[in-house]
Amino acid sequence: MIDKIDVLKRVQSLKNKISGLETSQELRKRDVQKKKAQIEKERVLAEKKQEEKIEVQKDIDRKELDLKTNEGEITKYNVQLNSIKTNKEYSALTTEIGSKKADMSILEDEILNTMSRLETANQECVKATEALKNEEESLKNLINSVDAEVKEADIEIENIKNEQKKYIDLLDEHSLSNYNRLANIKGGKAIVPVVGNVCGGCSMNITTQTLNELMGNKELVFCRSCSRILYLEENSD
Ligand SMILES: [Zn+2]
Repeated sequence: MIDKIDVLKRVQSLKNKISGLETSQELRKRDVQKKKAQIEKERVLAEKKQEEKIEVQKDIDRKELDLKTNEGEITKYNVQLNSIKTNKEYSALTTEIGSKKADMSILEDEILNTMSRLETANQECVKATEALKNEEESLKNLINSVDAEVKEADIEIENIKNEQKKYIDLLDEHSLSNYNRLANIKGGKAIVPVVGNVCGGCSMNITTQTLNELMGNKELVFCRSCSRILYLEENSD
């Protein structure tokens, strides 16, 4: 008959293995979430760059339209010049034409500047779109490998649970219910070693009486401070 302390230690160690696997599954799933959040930011950036590009293009279109309007007006004024009768009217009209030409020259400069802005906006847009595409590709790969890892861990957890069940079946009702109760409260440390007269769970000194119980008794012995199940380290394998 296997010592029930040894069985409990096995059950606990298997439980901790399961917890470890579940934790790394969660962490890997969180990696995917983090990556998704990062990609969302990249998507917003790429969309912003696309909108910027469109805005700059619209600005150029507007300026080119203004240029055409000015051109049309100058043509119209030039026609009017032919039918003008007084010097005063002539002078007013030529001043107007001069001012339109000056406006056009400013517009032409502005269009050139805006075109170079468009080029920059284009480049930035291409860069952001490419970065997004790469990130989406790497997310796909990440999801695939995390899915595979999670599935593999699920199988391993299932195997460990089956093994754990074999040990649990060896335990009496009393030991099992005490272990389960403590495992719920204390997590992975329901059963702890006594090392140098100190409880491995709460680090409090154990009483001589508890020590005597540990050495003599075949029943479970509990820490008086933290209620964990105790065992003597030298009994361990
Ligand atoms: Zn304790």
